[in-house]
Amino acid sequence: MKFTTFELNGVEQYGILDEQAGEIINLSLVVERRENHSLPYTLLEGIQQGDAFIFAVERVIKEMNEEKHKFYVNQDLIKWLSPIPNPIRNIMCVGKNYRDHAIEMGSEADIPEHVMIFTKATTSVTGHLSPVELHSEVTNELDYEGELAVVIGKEGKNISKDEALNHVFGYTILNDVTARDLQKRHKQFFIGKSLDSSCPIGPWIVHHSQLKHPNNLDIMTKVNNEVRQNSNTKHFIFSIEEIISTLSKGMTLQPGDIIATGTPAGVGKGYKPPIFLKKNDVIEITIEGIGTLTNKVQ
Ligand code: MG
Repeated sequence: MKFTTFELNGVEQYGILDEQAGEIINLSLVVERRENHSLPYTLLEGIQQGDAFIFAVERVIKEMNEEKHKFYVNQDLIKWLSPIPNPIRNIMCVGKNYRDHAIEMGSEADIPEHVMIFTKATTSVTGHLSPVELHSEVTNELDYEGELAVVIGKEGKNISKDEALNHVFGYTILNDVTARDLQKRHKQFFIGKSLDSSCPIGPWIVHHSQLKHPNNLDIMTKVNNEVRQNSNTKHFIFSIEEIISTLSKGMTLQPGDIIATGTPAGVGKGYKPPIFLKKNDVIEITIEGIGTLTNKVQ
C-alpha cells in the first residue's frame, strides 16, 4: 500500500493509491461518510495505531467493493503534502552514508567509522510538487541530496539489528536540501539544513510489506532531466538495521519518526566547479519500488 496525505479544497486529507486505477482512494472521505469505519483522522495517527491501522484499511477497501470509485480523488486535483506534514520531532538524517559521497565532500579520511546523525527542523518539511525556495537572501549555495527515508511504525529502545526492520512502517523519498555556505559557516548543520521548504518528502509512504529489500534499491536524482546521482542503497556504509539500532541505543524511537539514510555521490557541491541550484531548476528523485519525488526551485 502507498499512503499519501494531500490537500483538497483547502482541507488536509489522506488516502492510499489504487495503483491499477491510478487514482487515490480518499480515506478521509470514508471517515466523513461512514460509521463504524475505525479509521483515524490522519495518516500519522494511523501509523501510531500500528498493525490495527493496516487491518482497518484492508477491511474498509474490501467493504467498498464496487463502490470504490465513489471515494476516488484524481491526482491532478490535489495539492500533495508530505505524508506526515507536521512530524512530531525533527527529521533525523544520516550524514555520509555512501563512500563515494564522503569522498566527494572531502577525502577518504571523511568516511565515517560510526553513524553520523544531524537533524532538520520539522518546519522545513514540504510535499511533492511544492516549490523549494531558493532563499537567495541567506544562501548562494543551495544544493540537493536524494535520499531513501525510513518511517518508524513501532516504538522501541535498544532495538537489535535483527529486530530493526520490524520497527519500520514504510519507506519514502526525501530531498535533504542543504545551504552549503550556512552548513559550513555555522559548523553544526542545523541552520544550513532547516530553511523553510528544504525537506520535500513523498509522494507517498510505501508500506514495508511492499518493499522487502530496502538495502538494495536503485536511487537516481535528475536536475533538469540530467542525471546527477545514480546509485543503489546496497552501497550504504551503515545499513538501515544498523542506523535504527544505533539511534535507539538509549533513545526511544517513536511511530512517525522519519530517518533519512544519506545521499550518494553527485550532489552539486561535488562537481568541479560546484553546480548549485538556481531558480526554475527541477529536481526529480526516483527510488526503485517507491516512485519519483519532484520539486521545482522558486
Ligand atoms: Mg543528507
